Amino acid sequence: MITQAFGLSRLIVFIINATGIALIITVFSGNLRKILKLIFILMTVFMFIWVDLAFLARVVEENNLGLLYIKLAWSVTPLLFVLVFCFITVFLRISDNYKYFSIFSIVLGFLFLAMIPLTGLVISDIQYVNGTLEILYGDFVWLFFGFVFVYTLINFSILIANLRKKDTSAEIKIRIKYLLIGLTIFFVANSIFNLAAPVFFSVFHLYEFGDYSLIIFLSIIAYAISTNRFARIEIVTATFLVSFLGSFLFLDMMLFSETFEQIASKAIISVLFIPFGYFLVSNVHKEIEQKKELEELNRKLKELDQIKNEFISVAAHELRAPLTAVKGYLSMILDGDAGTITDQTKDFLQDIQLSTERMIRLVNNMLDVGRIEEGRIVYNLEDINLAEIVNTAYNEFKLEAERKNLEFRLDVQSDLRDRVHVDRDRLHEVIVNFLSNATKYTETGGITMKLFNKGSKTVRLEVVDTGMGISKEEQKKLFRKFYRVKSKVGKTIGSGLGLYISKLLIEKFEGEIGVDSEPGKGSNFWFELPVSS
Ligand code: ADP
Repeated sequence: MITQAFGLSRLIVFIINATGIALIITVFSGNLRKILKLIFILMTVFMFIWVDLAFLARVVEENNLGLLYIKLAWSVTPLLFVLVFCFITVFLRISDNYKYFSIFSIVLGFLFLAMIPLTGLVISDIQYVNGTLEILYGDFVWLFFGFVFVYTLINFSILIANLRKKDTSAEIKIRIKYLLIGLTIFFVANSIFNLAAPVFFSVFHLYEFGDYSLIIFLSIIAYAISTNRFARIEIVTATFLVSFLGSFLFLDMMLFSETFEQIASKAIISVLFIPFGYFLVSNVHKEIEQKKELEELNRKLKELDQIKNEFISVAAHELRAPLTAVKGYLSMILDGDAGTITDQTKDFLQDIQLSTERMIRLVNNMLDVGRIEEGRIVYNLEDINLAEIVNTAYNEFKLEAERKNLEFRLDVQSDLRDRVHVDRDRLHEVIVNFLSNATKYTETGGITMKLFNKGSKTVRLEVVDTGMGISKEEQKKLFRKFYRVKSKVGKTIGSGLGLYISKLLIEKFEGEIGVDSEPGKGSNFWFELPVSS
């Protein structure tokens, strides 16, 4: 029975030690003020003394040694409470207000540290009753408990006062709450198991649970004080896991090896573990850093994209007004409003007119793209006959095709079912984009527009040209924003927006868009729309 109980205690104490070391490593590698790290480490060391010596006292079952161990374990307790006080005041950056009181408290703590082991005033003797350690208290034990109680009260009141203060930031308040939770667990566990049970009810065998609550207290403190590094759960988990495992291996080697071979093999494992642990933790760190950087870059890119869109929109807007004026005056001159003109002048002016129209289309595309992407456009959806718009667009490009000496044809299937549910002007834009490209990129041969049904529910428009064609590779990228086929850029004006916008619009009308093309032979740009019944 006894051995089994100690087996469990031994395991718990072992885990507490490993956790203690892991906490030290975690806090030490954290981003904290040095003084806080120092106090925390001292607190943890005192916890080791307290928990380990009290454990040893329970297991030795030899009066003199047991008495020494338990006295030493008790001797650090008052100082530990003083350290908690120092820790809280330093953490809250109010230690200057308590400078003299802190020094006085530390002196008192040291007095206890000396008095408890050297005299019988607090602990006079011990005895083992059925394997359970019982403490015989000295006449001044109340001084010990009184001291601990007073400092607990002080710690609680400082924390609560700062929690209530208006100028304490929300973040610090959360940390204070954690500290309060830790302190409460520690205080309640100690009051029950270390004070009430043994002193008032002579129940000694639960004593160790008071000691164990220390590690919970310290873990909560470590969590409470940890800065943003700890905010990432991956880092905490990895660091803690590695430090815990490392400490575990080390303690196991130091405490539970019986032969030299055992020490040697465990030492090898411990040493091998170091680079592994380091690698793991540093990789997690790196990954988190990279993630942060990527997030930041992404944010910047979005910002730049926004600025670029605004610029395009402003530039396009400013360009449109003069272009429209040019177009207006041109058609007036061509109509003879400004007097008669020679045939050659008319020819030149028609060229200018076509180029101006192309530029207006381009500027319109630049303006549209942002609006369509952001859903700022209002679609005027209605049922119309597709052939009507196709005809209009065909007539608009007749002149241009003629001037380039291109054969230009329109084939419409007889008894065509072409009722579609679309925005008339927007769909007209798509067809114009196809035709504008076909005339732009075709030098010889011709352009044929084909309008026919594909099955009973779909109507398909094809704009087939005998132009330069597009490679398979580039066909895939064609409908992307700002994409222009490499070899042709510079030779023609364009923004690489026409097909992108066309795709957005056709998809909006629940249709499909695509291209079939062969370099050198020509291209077939098409779209299909569902026929509305
Ligand atoms: P833009 O014509 O303003 O550059 P588009 O989005 O309309 O932009 O077209 C993208 C690219 O696709 C063009 O730059 C051109 O290289 C290529 N392209 C489009 N239509 C044709 C076509 N009929 N024949 C050959 N290449 C074409």
